[in-house]
Amino acid sequence: MAQRAIGPEDRWAWVEIDLDAIRRNTAALRRMMARNVQMMCVVKADAYGHGAVQCAKAMRRSGGDQFAVATVTEGVELRKAGIAEPILILSQPPIETVQRIVDYDLMPALYEQDFALALGECAAAAGKVARYHLAIDTGMTRIGVNWRDVVEMRRSIHFHRGIECAGTFTHFATADMPRDWDFQMQARRFGEAVQALEDAGLRTGLVHCANTPATIMHPEVHEDMCRVGIGLYGLHPSYETRREVHLEPAMSVRGRVTRVELPEVGTGVSYGMTYRVPKPNIQICTVPIGYADGLSRTLSGQMDVLVRGERCRQVGRICMDQFMFEVSVNNVRAYRPTTAVEYGDVVTVLGHDGDEFISADDMATKRDTINYEVVCDFGLRLEKVYV
Ligand SMILES: *Cc1c(COP(=O)(O)O)cnc(C)c1O
Repeated sequence: MAQRAIGPEDRWAWVEIDLDAIRRNTAALRRMMARNVQMMCVVKADAYGHGAVQCAKAMRRSGGDQFAVATVTEGVELRKAGIAEPILILSQPPIETVQRIVDYDLMPALYEQDFALALGECAAAAGKVARYHLAIDTGMTRIGVNWRDVVEMRRSIHFHRGIECAGTFTHFATADMPRDWDFQMQARRFGEAVQALEDAGLRTGLVHCANTPATIMHPEVHEDMCRVGIGLYGLHPSYETRREVHLEPAMSVRGRVTRVELPEVGTGVSYGMTYRVPKPNIQICTVPIGYADGLSRTLSGQMDVLVRGERCRQVGRICMDQFMFEVSVNNVRAYRPTTAVEYGDVVTVLGHDGDEFISADDMATKRDTINYEVVCDFGLRLEKVYV
């Protein structure tokens, strides 16, 4: 598997995306929703580093009805690639973007009157009606109209013929924590706000609030649509969701060995020489992946890589564009590559090689972060190869 001759020609480092895994994850999450519930696939941040256009195309064939992004530019990229499904921008963008929103038929989240009216003016001038989703803050304190003020806000923009409410949503701060009181509080406030809009005779459009953890663990809040993100990429938002659905990680990160040395005992490796070759017959191998590719420098000396199905220890500081690892050639105890490592050998930084596996969760724990950030970071610079 890892020995296949794939990857870009100009640099021996790449991110491998398994689109079949994306398709199966999409279908698995889709099966957790009732037939009348829509599925909004969140492909913000270049699909969490996996490549938004390719992933969106795979997802729409496997059950995705709509897409969500973080910025207007991300939405325009999908439109230019031929994605015709509804696209939601998950927060209210700067007012200067309304023309592009109208031109590309994107739906912004909104919560301010000034933005709503500017959008309406722009759409009306183009002879269109711009669809938006009303964002409600039910307790996360990030974006949205305060849940108590939704009717007032909607009434203040309701007269405008250039805008139409296509959805009403909120976002949970603690959906990944089981039996959480704050989650229950947010869900209750959201229900009250939606009810108040309906009582006032204001159309809510699609009502939605479930992210991946809520989709998996709280079917009672699926409403009209679920907004799933991390699960599509095969990663779990928390320990609790693992029991409920089988997901397959779609991203692997690989490179090739660009140099093999057999230095003398005591020779230093990398910046600061924090590691010195401790004994004879230690190969020091170089891989062209560094922190500018998303391999955090905080992992220096803390991580393993896989070569020929075996674990090898990364040594010395991770540089901007490269890192080194060690292979003990004759040592039968710690690490035992069946043969010595050679120039051009494939190295797995994330993913499977033989029976061994390095997960985004392992890496996240070592970095003191979450799997979301690990995969987003690998999307930074490495070329993507779709398999
Ligand atoms: C990112 C995001 C999601 C998706 O969250 P996951 O935990 O990845 O499923 C859903 N809704 C909003 C508003 C988001 O910002």
